[in-house]
Amino acid sequence: MMSMMTMTIKADEINIINETYLCLTGRWLTSRIWVAQGFKHKERATPASVSFEEDAYGIISREISYGDVIGFYHTHPNMPAFVSTTDFTTMNAWVDALGKPLICLIEGKDGLYTYYWRGDGIYNEAKSIKIGNFFMGVICKE
Ligand SMILES: [Zn+2]
Repeated sequence: MMSMMTMTIKADEINIINETYLCLTGRWLTSRIWVAQGFKHKERATPASVSFEEDAYGIISREISYGDVIGFYHTHPNMPAFVSTTDFTTMNAWVDALGKPLICLIEGKDGLYTYYWRGDGIYNEAKSIKIGNFFMGVICKE
């Protein structure tokens, strides 16, 4: 089921510039509060999505070795931080692949938005802060 927050991106609404994309590794301090740092896999020239196919090997390897992948951060340089259709399907795929809920941070021209992705298109409202390469957040509602 699609969420009300999912929107379709039209090609002419996107300016193609490099967006930042980070895998977040960290840990949960409580059942609702997490801390993480971002590590970059690559600077990409495609807009507005969390990646799956390009970076899957490195991220799944990281999860197998350390078990500390807690989510993803990416930017929407020229658009609001809504969940795009690509973000939506990709986050569902990541939750399935890693077998656990994940944080999805999107920083758009309207600010930093946080989604706690539980799978099957279900996500909860959350808040987070970003200080350089470090992130901290809280799930607002279970
Ligand atoms: Zn996106």
